[in-house]
Amino acid sequence: MTVDHGDDDPAERTMRFLFQLRSRGVTDPRVLAAMEKIDRGLFVRGQFADRAYEDTPLPIPCGQTISQPSVVGLMTQSLNPGPRDTVLEIGTGSGYQAAVLSGLCRRVYTVDRHKRLVHEAEAIFRHLGLHNIIAQVADGSRGLPDQAPFDRILVTAAAEDPPGPLLAQLKIGGIMVVPVGQSDAVQTLIRVTRSDTGFDYDELRQVRFVPLVEGLGQT
Ligand code: SAH
Repeated sequence: MTVDHGDDDPAERTMRFLFQLRSRGVTDPRVLAAMEKIDRGLFVRGQFADRAYEDTPLPIPCGQTISQPSVVGLMTQSLNPGPRDTVLEIGTGSGYQAAVLSGLCRRVYTVDRHKRLVHEAEAIFRHLGLHNIIAQVADGSRGLPDQAPFDRILVTAAAEDPPGPLLAQLKIGGIMVVPVGQSDAVQTLIRVTRSDTGFDYDELRQVRFVPLVEGLGQT
């Protein structure tokens, strides 16, 4: 006898995807609603496409990875973007995290050092009609000075320390979420909140991200 897991039924697949997120601590209803709307299957191509709804990171072009959905959910929840906020994401990658943020804030700037990733992500944003995302090829370790300051900054690559230019481009009252630590080890996800007197740091959880690399990529 075969058990039908409803793999071909998008509604059931979405229900399982959301259940998995909730069971891993993604509980903010706005974040769950935003993640319900964005089909992760569009952001994973090739041999791993059939694993897009599993709670696992997967390879994408240029030797990078699309993050685990529950980590995307937890980072978005900790960032707590508001509907009027301008958010900067460092590390466009597949574009999935930017697409999730798009539904939660006014505008998303997302940058990656690989042209190919930015162009492929832009094509998906256009296809989905996500017109509030501006993707650029840039070295995100310098931030995006022309558009600064930002209400929220989300870094999806690991830095040894929160990059100074990003701290400087955060508004007072703003929040930055960034994985810190050596790239070949487990890193700590931290939340930095800027007050009028300085920066407060909270440690959130252990994570593993690809490294933040200075300079632009070859492709
Ligand atoms: N947020 C992505 C996953 C990011 S993987 C998603 O939702 O799919 C990390 C990304 O950071 C990679 O694409 C890598 O190219 C990018 N990256 C690393 N260093 C960078 C830098 N200095 N500036 C911009 N992007 C960088």
